[in-house]
Amino acid sequence: MDITLKTLTPLWTGGVDGTMDRLHETGLIGSLRWWYEVIVRGLGGYACDPTGDNHCEYDPQKPAPPEKQLCAACYLFGCTGWQRKFKLIILDESRNLFSIQPKKDGLAENIMMVWQFIQLRPIDDEEKWLLYQAVHIASNYGVIGGRTPRKPQGNKKVGGDSGLFTIENESGIPQEIDKERVMKWLKIGQFRRVTHEEWPDLRWFFFIQKQHLKRKKINELLGLSEDGKKQISHNGFQKALRGKIGVSKKIFSFEKPPGRMWGYLPNQILRERTISYLRENLGIQAENIKNGQEVLHEL
Ligand SMILES: [Zn+2]
Repeated sequence: MDITLKTLTPLWTGGVDGTMDRLHETGLIGSLRWWYEVIVRGLGGYACDPTGDNHCEYDPQKPAPPEKQLCAACYLFGCTGWQRKFKLIILDESRNLFSIQPKKDGLAENIMMVWQFIQLRPIDDEEKWLLYQAVHIASNYGVIGGRTPRKPQGNKKVGGDSGLFTIENESGIPQEIDKERVMKWLKIGQFRRVTHEEWPDLRWFFFIQKQHLKRKKINELLGLSEDGKKQISHNGFQKALRGKIGVSKKIFSFEKPPGRMWGYLPNQILRERTISYLRENLGIQAENIKNGQEVLHEL
């Protein structure tokens, strides 16, 4: 599978000591895995948090086959004892190895690159479909790469927009497969069950297009004072969006025209409360909002 894409903002893939020395495939893969997990959970499958306590591990000494020991995401992306089933090679427009040097804040905008997914071991069509959708959703509604998510603090600007991109071209996309087949494949009980209410699940996302919120308005959405220092409102959805200290943030807003924003909640009720608040108090237009279930429906 080859996907040609173009950066719309700087792209950050991680680096050494806070500077990006080159494009790191591992940063992109980590980001793709995150979207892949979100889609798997959204379709009713299981995906562990690879950084959490209950992550998967493969032990070849155990009689259970790999898929029984692993969640659907680890089955493709690998984990302790089990290697990732594909390799990502990044090429430039002339299909040479990518060698454009990033700047201080990451790879520049309007750079074209080709992501070439090379199969290292047999990959099921269902996995190819999910991987393809992960790239698509990140492109249409989210971002890729990015600095370690940090909670908004005060009015300090935490870097500019990062990680927006468009897909320019694609080939080798799995054709003979659809969502229904993928859902069956995820649910036939072959994968390790692992669920956690708090983990991001595509169904409980909200996505905003053509609009975004600035820091002060985000603080209002979170139930914080204008300077972001005090908690002044404690609605259920606001507590959920604020999350726990030290846990990555749950709202992302991008100024780059035409604007984009997304975030996630732990369930449908809180997602709907958030969407109502966005419409009624923060001037987000109904036609610019989509929920994750609607996005899943389009796949
Ligand atoms: Zn796992």
